[in-house]
Amino acid sequence: MKINPTDIAEKITKGNRRSLAKAITLVESSRRQDLLLAQEVLKQVMPSTGNSLRIGITGVPGVGKSTFIEAFGNYLVDEGHKVAVLAVDPSSPYTGGSILGDKTRMQELSRKVEVFIRPSPTGGTLGGVSRKTRESILLCEAAGYDVILIETVGVGQSEYEVSTMVDFFLMLMLPAGGDSLQGIKRGIMEIADLILVNKADGDLLQKAKVAQNDLKTALHFLKPKFDSLTTDVLLCSALTGNGVPEVWTHINEYTNHLKSKGLFNTIRNEQFVQWTRRMTEQLLVSDFWESERIDEEWKQATGRIRENKTTPLNECLNLLERYRK
Ligand code: GDP
Repeated sequence: MKINPTDIAEKITKGNRRSLAKAITLVESSRRQDLLLAQEVLKQVMPSTGNSLRIGITGVPGVGKSTFIEAFGNYLVDEGHKVAVLAVDPSSPYTGGSILGDKTRMQELSRKVEVFIRPSPTGGTLGGVSRKTRESILLCEAAGYDVILIETVGVGQSEYEVSTMVDFFLMLMLPAGGDSLQGIKRGIMEIADLILVNKADGDLLQKAKVAQNDLKTALHFLKPKFDSLTTDVLLCSALTGNGVPEVWTHINEYTNHLKSKGLFNTIRNEQFVQWTRRMTEQLLVSDFWESERIDEEWKQATGRIRENKTTPLNECLNLLERYRK
């Protein structure tokens, strides 16, 4: 079937979910033809993008991310918002398996017409998955979703990646303090805009309060993300819903403060500039290695290096010169 990008773009901006899903499938496709079509759709919807809050959510498996997103998403819908949930799943590129893709998650939320949930794209490097997610964010915005939740697992590089595509980065933690805090990578706490101790209910409430205090103390020793804002630590129970509305209030106060300082859009624009830069670098590297001239030159270079006839830098410079010609 012939796909008409103008037709899809128009339907997306009218909020058509099937067209949105179709465009995301194009964005996720590895076929060059689809990729170009996706770019055409994106270009056309660009003026309708940007009207959302992009919120990253991370935390170790079992911390309660999907339970929280279910509770938070339902709350947002009750408040009149349209919510899209996307995922960046670091396990999928390497193992084909998925930590986040479980279909049974967020069951109530997924049935709501105001909600669009898309499992994480599979295949490709984290850089590839990241581009797909960034483009999917734009498509969801064009379709009228005004809160975009991007979930990722706090186990590696993916949370850094997600933090560079969102306006607000939320880190969920378990109610455990003291020694176990030392296992947390400082870097991750430094990129969080808010830390949320989940499962603050029943027998765990007391532990959660201790964890909150410990985390607040730990944050004192870290470099603040913004001079005029501090990373706060709040308690919540995704299971009972306690503390969920407060998270939304906090996110709004925080992002409104950034807007009042003129930082909100500056940060977004800078994220796009950096993304373009990194993508250019990635494309350049793959173009380099795919080039036939380099293929031949590389074989010769490795031969010379193995025979100790030259230095690696000399060969690098040769290869670059060959590539430029
Ligand atoms: P994820 O792997 O981070 O998505 O975690 P899940 O949302 O799947 O939750 C893992 C387990 O923790 C499930 O058994 C949940 O029912 C439970 N859980 C999640 N949130 C809470 C909470 O606020 N309080 C309590 N007591 N349990 C919770």
